[in-house]
Amino acid sequence: MACDRCGELLDVVYNWDRLHVPDSLKAFEEKWTRRANPHCFSGVWRFHELLPFAPLEQCVTVGEGQTLLVPSEGVAKYTGIKPGRLYLQYEGMNPSGSFKDNGMSAAFTHARCVGATRAACASTGNTSASLALYCSVTKLMKAVIFIGSGKISYGKLSQALDFGALTVQINGDFDDAMARVKEVSRELGIYLVNSVNPFRLEGQKTIMFRVLEALRWEVPDWIVVPGGNLGNSSAFGKAFHELHQLGLIDRVPRLAVINAAGANTLYELVERQGLHWNDGSPDLERASRYYDEMDATGRRADTIASAIEINRPVNLSKCIRALEWCDGVVREVTDEQIMDAKARVGASGLGCEPASAASVAGVKSLVAEGIIAADQRVVCVLTGHQLKDPTATVAYHTTDQEQFNKVLGSRGVRRAAFANRAVAVPNNLDEIIKAIRLYG
Ligand SMILES: *Cc1c(COP(=O)(O)O)cnc(C)c1O
Repeated sequence: MACDRCGELLDVVYNWDRLHVPDSLKAFEEKWTRRANPHCFSGVWRFHELLPFAPLEQCVTVGEGQTLLVPSEGVAKYTGIKPGRLYLQYEGMNPSGSFKDNGMSAAFTHARCVGATRAACASTGNTSASLALYCSVTKLMKAVIFIGSGKISYGKLSQALDFGALTVQINGDFDDAMARVKEVSRELGIYLVNSVNPFRLEGQKTIMFRVLEALRWEVPDWIVVPGGNLGNSSAFGKAFHELHQLGLIDRVPRLAVINAAGANTLYELVERQGLHWNDGSPDLERASRYYDEMDATGRRADTIASAIEINRPVNLSKCIRALEWCDGVVREVTDEQIMDAKARVGASGLGCEPASAASVAGVKSLVAEGIIAADQRVVCVLTGHQLKDPTATVAYHTTDQEQFNKVLGSRGVRRAAFANRAVAVPNNLDEIIKAIRLYG
């Protein structure tokens, strides 16, 4: 999946002149009238003309991308955005509970086109859940999953196991698992579906197409997304760049990529060290030096937001290209900010996992800095479902100090400002009624 000569990741480029693309985005609405057809129903493949790397009849779908864009008054208020201007793009509604299904349907399609019989990934959890689901539903391939030890949340691990994937647990972290899966795939000729895979990013472009669709094809001012391996941010930048080149939108939104402070490689490189796209020649030596120093000092990513707990983001250069195209910014937020934001998201209607809430915490900081104005239209991508990581949620709301310290305190979270604590009562009717009157 990388260039033999320069080692950089491959990129999907279309010769649009030879392809049929509708002359208005509105034309895609017609697909809804044909939604009994699975390719029109799919939130990915109903935009097939904008990711036409495989013939439609080859495209694999399990019904991904039936997601919602919802305005949230509670989250708007929390972040300092005017009512009605903040939207949550809820990707937790995907079949495996995270946005990864958008990319998996595309990678799986390509794997099928090249006749693969086994597909592998290293994962902090959601990619493996998604791969395992696609294998289990379609029976087109067998899944091989590499996970690091101890870091995967139970919600995600349980999915891989339940879907019947071969799950290989490596004594190391995500980056170790990533390095190994690349070697093993080369050795055994297994198709690799990590986001080094450029087709994943093609599928993830459709998240933005659905955002535009929900906004009646109006471009918002900001897209805010958590940054881990940087597949999403890279895909979003590509989506808007292509739509703009095709004349389907008249401007691109700004992009904000939010790192966890405990896994802030992108933030360090872009905002502190000034790494830029530089017309296609970014100074990647800077990144190499940064990684060397990271290894030399033994510093490893550590955050409660396990989906973005990544030291060496594989899509680094594509992401800085997206930042260039979308006049983007990068910010870091602490685990305490993430967990507070997550609690506000939950209390306002849609739950999410910790990594997803980084986007909301990021908006709050960017509004406080004056970078995002209160009356701008802002879309936060909620990347994964609330039930993916119940351990983090329960630890936040618990009264059990020991559990709080173990899960959150050890990561620098001092207090849970929005904890909704369970009320302990004796098993006695009067006491229960008293408690409900008191707290209700
Ligand atoms: C994979 C994942 C991310 C990180 O996305 P990247 O595209 O790797 O930056 C964020 N949140 C959730 C829930 C994820 O599963």
